Amino acid sequence: MAGDVALILGNQLSLGNAALGTPASRPSHVLMVEAPGEATHVPSHKARIALFLSAMRHFATTLADQGFPVHYIHLDDMPEAGLRDRLSSALARLSVRTLVVTEPGDFRVGLDIQEACAAAGVALRILPDSHFLISRADFEAWAGDRKSLRMETFYRHMRRRTGVLMEGAEPAGGIWNLDTENRSGFGAHGPPDIPAPPHFPPDAQTREVLEVVERRFPRHPGRLDSFGWPVTRAEALIALGRFIEDRLEHFGPHQDAMWTGHPHLWHAILSSSLNLGLLSPAEVIEAATNAFSARRLPLASVEGFVRQILGWREFIRGVYWRFMPELAQVNHFGHQRHLPAWYWTGNTAMNCMRETIGQTLNLGYAHHIQRLMVTGNFALLAEVQPQEVSDWYLAVYVDAVEWVELPNTVGMALFADGGRFTSKPYVASGAYTKRMSNYCRNCRYDPSTRSGERACPVTLLYWAFLDKHEDELARNPRTSLMASNIRRLSAEDRHRVRQEADALLDRVDQI
Ligand code: FAD
Ligand code: SF4
Repeated sequence: MAGDVALILGNQLSLGNAALGTPASRPSHVLMVEAPGEATHVPSHKARIALFLSAMRHFATTLADQGFPVHYIHLDDMPEAGLRDRLSSALARLSVRTLVVTEPGDFRVGLDIQEACAAAGVALRILPDSHFLISRADFEAWAGDRKSLRMETFYRHMRRRTGVLMEGAEPAGGIWNLDTENRSGFGAHGPPDIPAPPHFPPDAQTREVLEVVERRFPRHPGRLDSFGWPVTRAEALIALGRFIEDRLEHFGPHQDAMWTGHPHLWHAILSSSLNLGLLSPAEVIEAATNAFSARRLPLASVEGFVRQILGWREFIRGVYWRFMPELAQVNHFGHQRHLPAWYWTGNTAMNCMRETIGQTLNLGYAHHIQRLMVTGNFALLAEVQPQEVSDWYLAVYVDAVEWVELPNTVGMALFADGGRFTSKPYVASGAYTKRMSNYCRNCRYDPSTRSGERACPVTLLYWAFLDKHEDELARNPRTSLMASNIRRLSAEDRHRVRQEADALLDRVDQI
């Protein structure tokens, strides 16, 4: 192999990938590298590893069918574990002149590629990633010298820029954001029957991958017996079609609700396909807005969904690149405790945590509010060191890639960056969980109690958080009410909260 070689990364599995060139200017070869280090730098869920490997192998087949000469390095092909070492050894062995790659999604991977090319004396050409709806440069131009970035301002900018859900210069229906209509719980009876997302039985190539993952990573978290994620573009398009047909209509009102035995509810379950590159955000948004016009779907549902992709997903990518590499080190509150051991097993008496973590380990999936307001809220209240929390999120979800996981964890869930792109810490007591789910009904603890035997750990730690951060909360208009609440407690009650919270955190592995 010689000349220009295109490197296709595991989350760039699209025939639109710029590194593949045009029919008139194709690379001489395509290189794809499986690296065991990518599965072990955090102890990845078995389904996450399997999904990446299977999607990569299927995409390599697609490329070969399209006539691209593909050089594919399998997990077992080399002694080296890390991407950088595997790549530099491949580049040297294959006499590559120039390596062409589309902007890597993750900072660390970008460094690995640069170092591998430098070590092998290979020229590196990095192309902009057209998968996203705004380039990194345009995001920077939008962000300018704003002191704090807000998703809502960015989202309006993106609506105007793309014309999505716009009527001339005005937002469809005269309103930009129907977030307040996205927060209903289910009441006593829970959700109705909801069509499940499609399950794709593993084909021969995926079965081979499942066997490799069990053999090479037997002690990793998670299980593979129910593996049914879309691993090809054709399957991802079916998953998209079924979401638009069956679940988009009701996506909006109960977006934040949680219920035992209903892991998916009306959520799209499309994040892994989007993050792998099997679907583009533009086509997903177009499918939703077409259905809005053709079927007159409720605006609260369609806008709520579009906001997640056109707003949050693009915004999160922009802030990741703006604040890296410092974002990986932030620790605004100086938290230093360890993640409770039961984050890796689900073995705790707290029912909200048991349900969310159990589901996560079974499926590699939990929806946004489970991640933000159950496991994320608890990790913040339990004063866990942010990078340890981030490693957990990167390990356990099939859709986890650092550019989207890290800002969501340290920025949204933990406020560990001190609010560069969020307006307040998202902390809540057990009352929130009680309102938005049925988890508290089957719990040994009582969400309304903050002291004594049955004190809900979430509620107790919430009050301890208010106590510790009273001054900071009082200074922020969005949290000043929380400061007023803690000020209503007597000095004696505050002392008790502090003592009981400290005692609880010291035995947090046993609760
Ligand atoms: P839906 O709820 O149906 O939303 C539709 C789509 O919108 C998603 O597929 C996703 O692409 C996008 N989206 C929604 N919320 C966000 C968000 N906050 N940031 C970026 N995109 C969003 N998402 C990941 O894709 N990978 C991660 O590693 C990841 N880690 C997270 C960690 C934490 C602590 C939190 C709070 C959120 C994280 N998210 C992550 C965002 C979000 O939880 C998932 O995208 C979503 O739950 C995926 O399920 P879904 O496809 O059913 O999404
Ligand atoms: Fe979670 Fe507390 Fe409710 Fe139990 S009572 S489920 S610990 S919020």
